[in-house]
Amino acid sequence: MSDAMVATRASDERGTAQQVDVAVVGAGFAGLYLLHRLRKAGFSAVGLEEAGDVGGTWYWNRYPGARCDIQTIDYSYTFDPELEAAWTWSEKYATQPEILRYLGFVADRYDLRRDIRFKTRVTEARWDEASERWFITTDNGAPVSCRHYIMATGCLSAPKPPEIDGVKDFKGEVYFTGRWPHDGVNLAGKRVAVIGTGSSAIQSIPLIAEQAAHLTVFQRTPNFALPAHNGPPPSDRMSLLQSDRATYRAQARQSMAGVPYPQQTVVSWQLSDAERRERFERAWAAGDLVHILTQLWADQAVDVDGNKIVQDLIREKIRAAVKDPETAAALTPHDHPFGAKRPCLDTNYYATYNRPNVTLVNLRQEPIKAITASGISTNGRSFALDVIVFATGFDAMTGAIRAVHPITGRDGKSLSDVWAQGPQTYLGLTVAGFPNFFMITGPGSPSVLSNMAVSIEQHVDWVVDRLAALRDAGFTTIEPTETAQAGWGRHMADCSMLTLHRLANTWYTGANVPGKVQGLMPYTGGVGPYRSICDEVVSRGMLGFRLTGPDGAAQCNDGEVVRLQPDVRLVLNLLATLNLPPIESMGAEGARAFVNEFNKGRPAGRPIGEIVDGTLPGADGPLPYRVYKPATAGPHPVVVYFHGGGWVLGDEQSDEPFCRDMVRRTGMMFVSVGYRHAPEHRFPTAAEDGYAATRWIAEHAAELGGRPGPVLVAGWSAGGNIAAVTCQLARDRGGPDIAGQLLVCPVTDCSFDRPSYNDNATGYFLTRSLMYWFWDLYCSPADRTDPRVSPLRGKVENLPPAFVVTCEFDPLRDEGVAYAEAMAAAGVPVEQLRARGHFHSSFTMVDVVITGVSGRVQMAGALRRFAGLPPEISRGESNQEHDSPGRRIAAAAS
Ligand SMILES: Cc1cc2nc3c(=O)[nH]c(=O)nc-3n(C[C@H](O)[C@H](O)[C@H](O)COP(=O)(O)OP(=O)(O)OC[C@H]3O[C@@H](n4cnc5c(N)ncnc54)[C@H](O)[C@@H]3O)c2cc1C
Repeated sequence: MSDAMVATRASDERGTAQQVDVAVVGAGFAGLYLLHRLRKAGFSAVGLEEAGDVGGTWYWNRYPGARCDIQTIDYSYTFDPELEAAWTWSEKYATQPEILRYLGFVADRYDLRRDIRFKTRVTEARWDEASERWFITTDNGAPVSCRHYIMATGCLSAPKPPEIDGVKDFKGEVYFTGRWPHDGVNLAGKRVAVIGTGSSAIQSIPLIAEQAAHLTVFQRTPNFALPAHNGPPPSDRMSLLQSDRATYRAQARQSMAGVPYPQQTVVSWQLSDAERRERFERAWAAGDLVHILTQLWADQAVDVDGNKIVQDLIREKIRAAVKDPETAAALTPHDHPFGAKRPCLDTNYYATYNRPNVTLVNLRQEPIKAITASGISTNGRSFALDVIVFATGFDAMTGAIRAVHPITGRDGKSLSDVWAQGPQTYLGLTVAGFPNFFMITGPGSPSVLSNMAVSIEQHVDWVVDRLAALRDAGFTTIEPTETAQAGWGRHMADCSMLTLHRLANTWYTGANVPGKVQGLMPYTGGVGPYRSICDEVVSRGMLGFRLTGPDGAAQCNDGEVVRLQPDVRLVLNLLATLNLPPIESMGAEGARAFVNEFNKGRPAGRPIGEIVDGTLPGADGPLPYRVYKPATAGPHPVVVYFHGGGWVLGDEQSDEPFCRDMVRRTGMMFVSVGYRHAPEHRFPTAAEDGYAATRWIAEHAAELGGRPGPVLVAGWSAGGNIAAVTCQLARDRGGPDIAGQLLVCPVTDCSFDRPSYNDNATGYFLTRSLMYWFWDLYCSPADRTDPRVSPLRGKVENLPPAFVVTCEFDPLRDEGVAYAEAMAAAGVPVEQLRARGHFHSSFTMVDVVITGVSGRVQMAGALRRFAGLPPEISRGESNQEHDSPGRRIAAAAS
């Protein structure tokens, strides 16, 4: 349909519509940059903004103390070096007026206001299938007809209405931090209440307390707050930026949070108490959220134990700052891991409670009953007030989007209905069924878990580049597929298992809004990985998008952009950047040296009770072994363990992190066997060594400190092969008694023609050609069907109960499944874990592939069941010294 026809049709409906290529809703950080980029790319665009001027967040949030909490040198546009040179921030954390001035400066510099209709709220949006355009209705002036509709409406722009009865009855003044009057508020000498203790409250309370006659703070949930130590931009960060601005900005774009800090590799248990405290004090003194959230130790954001150390150190600070112990206790958070809810930056927040004119009311103990004409009454008390300030936060991430209602997409479907069970998006940018519709920092993007300036620039660049490419290729519509969107939902869920955010009820999950469907809305996989995924979508031919154009032109490369677990993807990407030669090209000695070197760089595994080395008589001479014991008093059931390495590499210590982790999770003793390797010792040496060692360990269990009786066997990869073979040999050769077998990604057969060998031939570290090499070194073709190397070819009846783990992206996947199924068909009790998105090394890369934890939890449960123990490790058996709310949160989560 021609533009003229569209115009006629639109004017028939609602008067003359403004015709543009793109409508942008919102004139904050996102909307402004969009208008600039769209104009440069040759699109006609209009900005529609409810506010009276540009600024978004910084237009509305004018409460006392309003500042950014990402250092301002990072919280700025970076798209134009000349703009960067033209503006100097006066403070480390700029105030709202300064940020608003900056956004006004940007609007002037690029002459953006001429394309913005202020005081114009978008009320409805409808996709017109015939014209392939959006029709946008506003509360002020002409509607808009546009090819593309972009909501740059902000994550924190829809203030949450108060949930308390009687607000209308109150005769005093009422203010909302998110809609603070432009000419300020005089609180001097007044009795003021602040309801809420989120970020806005924590910023404003110290300043309100200085003015008010009395301030009463009503707190439902305490937050962790850290001193901002505001002042001039810190010299260390400034010199980093100024010495090489381009690199600094590039690192920010690739970082996890959008601020260039290195990835920490040291984990908490590798540091002494004094070292941890030193790191913490340094972070506390730095007054920098990203620093304290990311730079203490590598496990602080992913592991409850690593996180609890930080929580405890902050609690100490709160106790030291607040004189009244009861007030200090009420201000101390216990219900969420540090960082799972956005921590706040403060200036004198805790000390403010030492003032005689400040009272804290703990709503957990004393809920508000009503707001009356003269103040607030709780269960126990009445507070006479002149002013009530609501600092109750926002209907975050989706509030402003859903406030435009309806947004009607293809087939008359409304976005509110499509999102009835929570937001679903592809990349957080687009929604299936809503062509030519984009959100900037929408749910499913890093958004509020990042420096939003960096995220916004990335989104805007990506969207505008796509629109330009679409136009240049002659297409008129772009829309994600259901497959891609569902895949993104899965990837989001996988990412959420990486961090502790899922363990807190917060505005990240919608928990602050009654009736809102709960689920973690921001993308937790990090800014850099997110950017690389968006780029991958493009490099793979707009993967997951359907593009259409005139005369039936269409392009759809359907699929899911990320099928790997997020941390597996990171590991594989990192390995790819190392450009390592194939292991099989190194020769056996070279490969062993490489693996030893490689293993030195990995986290060593957590402390356990004791590690003891020894030798045992193997099939043909002594074999080394290493015993890993729990911290608790024995005797413990014994697991005989066989390491991986294709019968060629590794030794009794090479799977140490895995053994330590399993000892902690099972409360059982692991004896790792140093069986002999090919090519020096070819088939059937490894198998016979494995069997002989198991027999000896079973006979000497008590001597080793273990529980006499049946042993269990476990192994990974070629070690899984040896464990499986050992069970068959033990059955056929009269013992020892084996109570259960754990086979992790085992080799079970010599056939290479199962699909997983082709599907995962390259790219997942264990390659098909590496497997060929291992086989060639270990076993001549004539021997390969022998059950002592291909247990799938052996008798699989009457074997011990088995837990078989296979990984989706592993050449060995299908033979592992085949072995599990063969045993099950033969009547062996078998449980399978088919690990989606994992690769061959996922479960042994302990503390690297974090998403492997839940698999190891299941493995440990199985081993305990096989040993006749209750599936859950009891407190008495565990290595963990303390119980705590944090631990209970973690237990609930797992
Ligand atoms: C107090 C506060 C401090 C913050 N500090 C930081 C920080 O330090 N670092 C950080 O990264 N982030 C911070 N944020 C998050 C902040 O929201 C973003 O950094 C950024 O400002 C978002 O820009 P935006 O353009 O996407 O959205 P916004 O700035 O929220 O702008 C959206 C605009 O859309 C308009 N709008 C919405 N719906 C409609 C409609 N239907 N019709 C017309 N107009 C509409 C709104 O009026 C608003 O002006 C803070 C947020 C708050 C509230």
